[in-house]
Order: sequence, then structure tokens, then C-alpha cells
Amino acid sequence: MYKKIAVIPGDGIGPEVMQQTLAILEYVEKVFGHQFEINECLAGGAAIDQEGVPLPPKTLETCKDADAVLLGALGGPKWDHLDGQKRPEKALLGLRKELELFANLRPAILFPALSDSCPLKPSIVENGLDVMVVRELTGGIYFGKQGTIIDGDGKEAAYDTMFYHEDEVRRIAKIAFEMALKRNKKLMSVDKANVLENSRLWRKIVVEEAVNYPDVTLDHMYVDNAAMQLVRNPGQFDVIVTGNMFGDILSDEVSMITGSIGMLPSASLSADQKGMYEPIHGSAPDIAGENKANPLAMILSCAMMLRTSFDMMQEANLIENAVEEVLNKGYRTADIYSEGTKMVSTEEMGQVVLHTMKTM
Ligand code: NAD
Repeated sequence: MYKKIAVIPGDGIGPEVMQQTLAILEYVEKVFGHQFEINECLAGGAAIDQEGVPLPPKTLETCKDADAVLLGALGGPKWDHLDGQKRPEKALLGLRKELELFANLRPAILFPALSDSCPLKPSIVENGLDVMVVRELTGGIYFGKQGTIIDGDGKEAAYDTMFYHEDEVRRIAKIAFEMALKRNKKLMSVDKANVLENSRLWRKIVVEEAVNYPDVTLDHMYVDNAAMQLVRNPGQFDVIVTGNMFGDILSDEVSMITGSIGMLPSASLSADQKGMYEPIHGSAPDIAGENKANPLAMILSCAMMLRTSFDMMQEANLIENAVEEVLNKGYRTADIYSEGTKMVSTEEMGQVVLHTMKTM
């Protein structure tokens, strides 16, 4: 298969983790007989330094033209003094908007070998954890009408409006049902339909859409209960679909349960399954350039790209199985190290995953 991939290594540890990932992608290309056209481009701090803006038009063009975008991380203290429009993070928002990435997919996997990193009791997660949060990314309260008012007594008030159109709900529901079909066929829709009118619309549309997916079991849960159930019994969830604000909060909660930010990939998708794939962590300026960063979140983001945007299941499985095997053998970067395991650098972790893939 021929695919165009826009690659944005970015700032801080971004280039370090991307380098390991590209070596793995090259191996997949060779072994499975694909042709990946890799177009590297600048964004974030690196783009500010070289081109004066966080998202140069050339980068945007390359990303729009690509079948998928792989992104390391953007930002760092060097650019913290810049104001709003010029900050590295603007590139992320710009890419999401221009590529119409309305669905955010955050899988949280707790590999049994890393169960020590989980803050929950071992009995709760003894079988590991594998939850996918599908969050609506471009609507809801973060994008509704907002403002501030001064009342008659000169006191301040502020408001934010939560708004969802049925088309916005339907398209994210479709993504979530499709995702559930590729996994354990269980979908939990999370809302606050006991209080919010737009949650009642959300629920109605999700139920309507379920008719097209008879193989998926759909349930509903209020967001306050979902927050509680995620720490009480996270194993009950397969795919969770929810709005922008609830998803923002729940996806961070789920990430925390897995214990390591260096392990978690993410995807943001548009309607045509094109997507941007990136680790959930930032540029980690405190360890940048030290060959200490965990490259596994970036490597797993690449696996997610192969499966989700390119339908390359075997290729994605090979990478994910190799990562699991490497963890089972006890290899750890500093962030997930515990006594009795083997500490490795960024480069060594990349190499050991690649080597393991070659033996599978
Ligand atoms: P961060 O995720 O960069 O770092 C938080 C902590 O986790 C640090 O101690 C860091 O060393 C550690 N860490 C993160 N990734 C790691 C990895 N792969 N391996 C080992 N340890 C890892 O978050 P932050 O410190 O809040 O932000 C730093 C910069 O990154 C800021 O400029 C922020 O705006 C930016 N940021 C970018 C993105 C993105 O590009 N999507 C996301 C979050 C933060």
C-alpha cells in the first residue's frame, strides 16, 4: 500500500522519540511491502525559530495532503514568553481546526507487566486494563457562546454555553460504534442527561445511531457515575464515547490509572478517517536531549495510525505485541523503572522493540 505520512518531530523529546518510531515504521514498510512517503515538517517551537510562526503554511499544506500526520510534541520554556497567537501550542489547535479533527481517541492500556505503576489496588486491575475514550473535540462548552457581564451592582458574572448539534453527535457516535466493532463490541455513552438538555439530545442521537450497529452493546452512564466507576471497576469499560468537556476530564482520569504518561498514544480523526497521531505527553523539557525519554507512547501512536487510518491490522499488532513482549522481558526507561527490571535509554528501548519485531 502507498501512503503519505507527514511527520512533525517538534520540540524537546519529540525528535528523540520520533527517531525511534521512524526506524520501526521503516521496518514495517519493508517487511509488509508497503511504500510510505515520509514528509518531515516543522511546527511549534522549532518552526518559530526557523520560520517565525508556529504553523508555517508549508507544514499545513503537507499535512493536508498526507494520509496521516505523526506528531512528537510541541512547546517548551524557550517559547513561554511569547504571547497567545505565537505560542507553539497554536500549531496544535491550528492543525486540529484545519484538518477538521473532531474525534479524539485516547486508549488507556495497562500492560500487566506495568501493573505496579497503577495507583489502584492490584485486585482492581489484576487483569490489566484496556479502555478507549472517544471524545468529541470541536464542539460543546469549549466552543459555545461565552462572555462576561457586569451586573447592576457592578459585580462580575460569566457564562459559557454548552451546545451540540445532532450532526456533531451523530458523527462522533459513528466513530465510537466503528471503534467498538473493532474491539470488544461494548460502547458506553457518557452524558448528564438527568440535568442537561444537550445531553438528552446526545443520548437520543446515540440511541438512533445504534440501530446501524446491532452487534455493539450500547449502555449509558451519567458522567459523575462514570468518574467513580473508572476507579472502582475500570475493567467493565471497552469504548467510552462522550462530549468535549466530559471527555477532557475522563480521558485524563483513565490515563492516570495506567500510571505512566510515557506509554499512552492518542489519535485525532476527521470524518474521512485521516488523522493526527501523537503521544499524550508533552515535550518534557526537563529530560530533553538526555536520551532518557520513553519512546513507547510515540511508537504506539504509530501502531494506532497503521490500524485506524490505514487498516493495517497485522502491522499494528506486530508493533503492539513487540512492545508488550519487551515489557514482559523487563526492559524499562527511567519513568517506568522499578527494582529488578533493566533500565534502558530512549535509543535502546527503540532498538529492543525493533529487534523483538524481527523475531516475531
Ligand atoms: P510533559 O508531558 O512534557 O511532562 C510532564 C512530566 O512527565 C515531566 O516530568 C516529563 O519528564 C515526564 N514525561 C513526559 N513524557 C515523557 C516520556 N515520554 N518519557 C519519560 N518521561 C516523560 O508536560 P509539561 O511539563 O506540562 O509540558 C512541557 C511542555 O510540553 C510545555 O511547553 C507544554 O505546553 C507542552 N505540551 C505539549 C503537548 C503536545 O505537544 N501535544 C502536550 C502537553 C504539553
